[in-house]
Amino acid sequence: MRRKFIAGNWKMNLGYRESEKLAKEIKSKLEDKYFTKTDVLICPSFISLGIVNKAIKDTEIKLGAQDLYFENDGAFTGEVSSDMIKSVGCEYVIIGHSERRKYQHESNKLINLKINKAIRSGLKPILCIGESLEEREDEIYESVIIEMLRDGLHEISTEDMSKIVIAYEPVWAIGTGLNATPKQASEIHGFIRKYISDKYDPEIAKEQIVLYGGSVNGKNAKDILSAKDVDGALIGGASLKPDEFCDIVRIAYSI
Ligand code: PEP
Repeated sequence: MRRKFIAGNWKMNLGYRESEKLAKEIKSKLEDKYFTKTDVLICPSFISLGIVNKAIKDTEIKLGAQDLYFENDGAFTGEVSSDMIKSVGCEYVIIGHSERRKYQHESNKLINLKINKAIRSGLKPILCIGESLEEREDEIYESVIIEMLRDGLHEISTEDMSKIVIAYEPVWAIGTGLNATPKQASEIHGFIRKYISDKYDPEIAKEQIVLYGGSVNGKNAKDILSAKDVDGALIGGASLKPDEFCDIVRIAYSI
C-alpha cells in the first residue's frame, strides 16, 4: 500500500539560521498522527543540512539533499559526495531536477551516474523527470519521459527500483504558477507506472512512489493529491511557507 509523500525542495533559499528556524516551525506544526500515513521530507541547501538535521532530531521528518556528485572523493572542487550528505543525516537526495538540467547542463547520462551512486551508497534518490512546454505542445512528451526514465535508470535493478522515488515535474509548471491539471498528472503518472511495470515488475510498479511537482500550493493540493496514481508532491515555493507546507501535509493525510 503506497503512502502519501510530501517533499519540500528549498532550492537556493534561506541561510543557516533561517533554515533552522523553518525546520523548527515545520516540526512544531506537525503532530505525530500525520506521520502514520504520510512521509514528510525537507531538502535544504547543503550548508544547512547539519543544522536542520539537529532541528528535526526525534521527529519523523526526513532529510534530503538537492544533489550529490557521483565520485567518492578527490579533486572535484565544489562538489559534495554521498558520504558527506549521509554524514549529516540525509536519507534522500533529489537528482536531475530540471533547474540542474537547465543551468548546470546535466545530461541523462550524468544523472544516471548520480542515481547509481546514490543507490550504492544506501541513499534513496528522487529522480526528477518532465517535459518542457515546447515538448508538450509538440506532443512528444511521452517519448521525452521514456528517454529520461530509460537513460536515468540505466543499470538499475528491479530490486533497486523499490528504493527510488520518481518525481514528474513538467518544466512549464515549475515556479510558474501554472500547474498540470489532475487529469494531466494522472495520465503521466499512470504512464510512468506502466513503464516500470513493463520494464521491471508489476508488483514493484504497484508500490512505486510517483510524486507530482509544479506549483503545488495549499489551494490546488487537494485536487492534485487526490488524482489517480499521484502519491504526493515535490514542492518548491510553497515549501518555504511553514503554514502552507504543513497544510499540504494535512491535506495528504486526509485523502
Ligand atoms: C520544484 O522545485 O521541484 C518545484 C516544483 O517548484 P515549485 O513548487 O515552486 O513550482
